[in-house]
Amino acid sequence: MSSAASLASSLLRREILDLHAYHVPDSTGYIKLDAMENPYSVPPALRGEIAEAVASAAINRYPDPAATSLKEQIRGVLGLPEGMEVLLGNGSDELIQLLAMALNKPGATLLGVEPSFVMYRMIATFTGMRYASVPLTTNSGAADFSLDLPATLAAIRREQPALIFLAYPNNPTGNLFPADAVVQIIEAAQGLVVVDEAYYAFASDSFIPRLARYPNLLVMRTFSKLGMAGLRLGFLTGDAAWLAQLEKLRLPYNVGILPQLVAGKLLAHHAVLLQQAEQIKRDRAGLYRQLSEIAGVRVYPSEANFLLFRVANAPEVFDGLKRRGVLIKNLHGGHPMLNGCLRVTVGTPDECAKFVAALQDTITQLA
Ligand SMILES: *Cc1c(COP(=O)(O)O)cnc(C)c1O
Repeated sequence: MSSAASLASSLLRREILDLHAYHVPDSTGYIKLDAMENPYSVPPALRGEIAEAVASAAINRYPDPAATSLKEQIRGVLGLPEGMEVLLGNGSDELIQLLAMALNKPGATLLGVEPSFVMYRMIATFTGMRYASVPLTTNSGAADFSLDLPATLAAIRREQPALIFLAYPNNPTGNLFPADAVVQIIEAAQGLVVVDEAYYAFASDSFIPRLARYPNLLVMRTFSKLGMAGLRLGFLTGDAAWLAQLEKLRLPYNVGILPQLVAGKLLAHHAVLLQQAEQIKRDRAGLYRQLSEIAGVRVYPSEANFLLFRVANAPEVFDGLKRRGVLIKNLHGGHPMLNGCLRVTVGTPDECAKFVAALQDTITQLA
């Protein structure tokens, strides 16, 4: 071992040494359907406007630390209820980390359901917070990934979590938990419940209108899935009493001047982005139908911009797709309930057609 390696392994926290780094595969040259990105680029009419704003940006200066105008715009565009504050993050990942840091009293627990977004568990580890989870239910032997409400309520009583994350809709399963079950969780919890609405643009419900009813509820959103993954911008919204405290932990310049400017330009055209989301929802329905017609494929209902599906030999199917130029996400081996599962982002109609053809071809060849 080199002296730096032995020094690092003696100084670093054990749980950091034991971690596997979050793996992002090289996607160069592939039809990229692995990361829930919006497949549509910025409308041409907007590009000039963005270029102009960027060209005259004062990048020699620190950005507006409060991002006042962007926050006002978010409030207006999304119709946030009166009295609800906004806290911006460098992606919502940063906000998960900020919440864990803020609530991690000695012995405090972060509770999640599984399978769900892996960053909840990873960030609990990063911050040294205790993590507990409740499995989603399985139906007649095959996972259908619904909330196990009795088990979740029992876990809340047992673990007394300081912080609960629920992805609404859930990733990587795509389903939207029943709102009344989420409400029961919020009502039973002594701790803070964060409803993570990363896929709000593709879903039929939101907890933002319910914020005023529950003092222990915050809603988190990101613009990543709506066409701004490259900007890194997410936000928390909820009662000012919470957000004023959390604001103290935010690094002063966490959202740079370019993301502030470009997001401002894009949000001025929020309707265009929502039209793209509507297109993606229509294409999701078409893709769902096509996948459900392929023998040997079980596809799960989704209110997000991706579909989860199960096949007999997921790693081989994943590799076969890759050889045919299509990159999706292999979830096999990530969690016992996801054995045989693959996740595909809804791309453009052309990308979806190429994916379906490659999948049929792969499955025929493997049979
Ligand atoms: C993608 C995703 C996020 C992270 O979004 P960023 O804003 O890009 O960090 C958070 N939660 C869920 C459930 C996601 O799927």
